[in-house]
Amino acid sequence: MNGGTELVFHCPACGECMAVNAPMREALLDQGCVVCGSVVSQSAFSPSPEANGDGTV
Ligand SMILES: [Zn+2]
Repeated sequence: MNGGTELVFHCPACGECMAVNAPMREALLDQGCVVCGSVVSQSAFSPSPEANGDGTV
């Protein structure tokens, strides 16, 4: 497991884009977009290009 995994959240409803970590992703999935309140799905998240991930697309 890698600590401090960064993700990018891109709201499909309002276009908000922000870097988040795993706990923030869980909060967004549970509570919706912090900007517009729309329901957020897993597909709204992608690995941060700056994160040292495994390169899975
Ligand atoms: Zn939004």
